Amino acid sequence: MLKRRYARISIVLTVLGLAILLLFRTYYGQVYEIVFVCIGAALSIAGMIIGFIFMKCPSCGRRSAMPQWSKSGTRYCIYCGERFVYNDSV
Ligand SMILES: [Zn+2]
Repeated sequence: MLKRRYARISIVLTVLGLAILLLFRTYYGQVYEIVFVCIGAALSIAGMIIGFIFMKCPSCGRRSAMPQWSKSGTRYCIYCGERFVYNDSV
């Protein structure tokens, strides 16, 4: 079973990082722009790494699972056809 907590952490960090990259570009001058780009890139990369580590297929172990925020059992492994079921209690 996939862990919902890690799926959500992965989604939040990736989206937050990309949002910072896109939104905080030119408001505060060049020094802050570099800071925001670094923070945004670090967050989105961290989110992707967490997704990469924890979103493994429970059946075959390949990294085919996409993080899902609230749905469960609607996606299938592209390698072995196993349904991805999330555990909401962890
Ligand atoms: Zn699989």
